[in-house]
Amino acid sequence: MTDDAAPPDLLIKGAACVVTGAGVLEGADILIRAGRIAAIGTIPAAPGVQVIDASNSLVAPGLVNAHWHSAMQLSHGTADRLNHKVFMWGNQVDTARRSQEEAYVSAVIGCIQMLRTGTTSVIDHFPEQGFGIEDIATVVRAFHDCGMRAVVALRIFDGEYSDILPAADRVTDELRAALATGNTLAPRPLAESLDVTAGAIARFDRMAGRIRIFPGPSNPVRCSDDLLVACQEMAERHDTGVHCHLLETRTQADLAMAKYGRTMVAHMDAIGAFSGRWSNAHCNWVAEADIEAMARHQAVAVFNPESNLKIGSGVPPIPRLLAAGVPCALGADGVSTNDNLVMHDAMQLAAMLHRPSEPDRSRWVSADQALAMATTGGARAMLEPDLGLIQVGAKADLVLHDLDEPWWVPLNDPVQQLVFGERGGSVRTVIVDGRVVVRDGRVLTVDARAIVAEARGILKSVRRRNADVQAVADAVAALE
Ligand SMILES: [Zn+2]
Repeated sequence: MTDDAAPPDLLIKGAACVVTGAGVLEGADILIRAGRIAAIGTIPAAPGVQVIDASNSLVAPGLVNAHWHSAMQLSHGTADRLNHKVFMWGNQVDTARRSQEEAYVSAVIGCIQMLRTGTTSVIDHFPEQGFGIEDIATVVRAFHDCGMRAVVALRIFDGEYSDILPAADRVTDELRAALATGNTLAPRPLAESLDVTAGAIARFDRMAGRIRIFPGPSNPVRCSDDLLVACQEMAERHDTGVHCHLLETRTQADLAMAKYGRTMVAHMDAIGAFSGRWSNAHCNWVAEADIEAMARHQAVAVFNPESNLKIGSGVPPIPRLLAAGVPCALGADGVSTNDNLVMHDAMQLAAMLHRPSEPDRSRWVSADQALAMATTGGARAMLEPDLGLIQVGAKADLVLHDLDEPWWVPLNDPVQQLVFGERGGSVRTVIVDGRVVVRDGRVLTVDARAIVAEARGILKSVRRRNADVQAVADAVAALE
């Protein structure tokens, strides 16, 4: 468990290579004090300072996974050849009606995966079904115990999940009957959702200086105007961000046009429910009007290319958004559409996804741009201006890679090798907020073996109690 007492000063001594995010340094020392980078250069060891020998290490900023779902973390290997509608109901079977202990284990096992592969910060879009303050306390405790930096974005909605149900004239009697008891996504009253969100902000926001609580509308197309405006107002009042899914599927774009007579973001902008506080996962089906509003407000696009490819939901137009000046970040999304939470995969896909269809290679996303999305871009989504670069004054979230591992030999281009080569296998030391949380590739903050042992039986047990939800999933799958 992470101790909140101030950690000792740390001196990373003689780093062979430092990828700062603004360049590459060789042979540099980095002094960390009170959670921040205090100095970079040639720094002598002083009494009381803990020294980390980095003579054979590459030091890089910790990666930011700017869209994830802790609730789904036990669903590895479950979503092959499932489209968005079928996969969404399958997730319900795997995540509804969990105990708090099950939710805790699920979040911790995800943190272990992320820390061991160099991800130090995460936005958890949590959970999905109705939740109370103690459920939020549970997941906050998981991030606190693991020592990660996290935003818990509370996933609220007050409308139907019409985008994952067949059109009304296609709903079968079987599906109608199944929904009567197994619809875990029935909307709850808006006032209740806002109360829980405001209560969670009051109780947990800024805990230990590294945990934030944001309102997190599930997807604007599943929300009333009142809910969207209330989230924007709440964010202004408490200086938080807002995190949501946005235009992941073509169905969602079509529903928005039918419902509002304009595109989703154009509508949110018109009703005063959009700003630079919003970070928006996916953005596969954004129209020009959406991109224009996102650029004008400097709202963040959070791409999840691996998830989009696995369930065939679309291809994010990354070069268009970058060219328009929209701040861009990357996420893994839930593990059922990602399976490993390795942010290097997200960076690689962000850089390569468009190359076959873009003959002008000057428009291709570079390794440097992909790394920026997974560091400063994610930090922007978390409203953390001092995160994602290795520079004096920045928050000290750092990852040390072992340069003896074969994919670093020889060290030709550190950034390209970080994005295209490394997959987390050379991560040896991870520092979050100035505190060592991984040493020699082992997570220090929690008992990983005990968590793994506890995690093994949970999914089977959750599925047993959700047979009625499985009936909904089967009825939807039969129509898809
Ligand atoms: Zn998602």
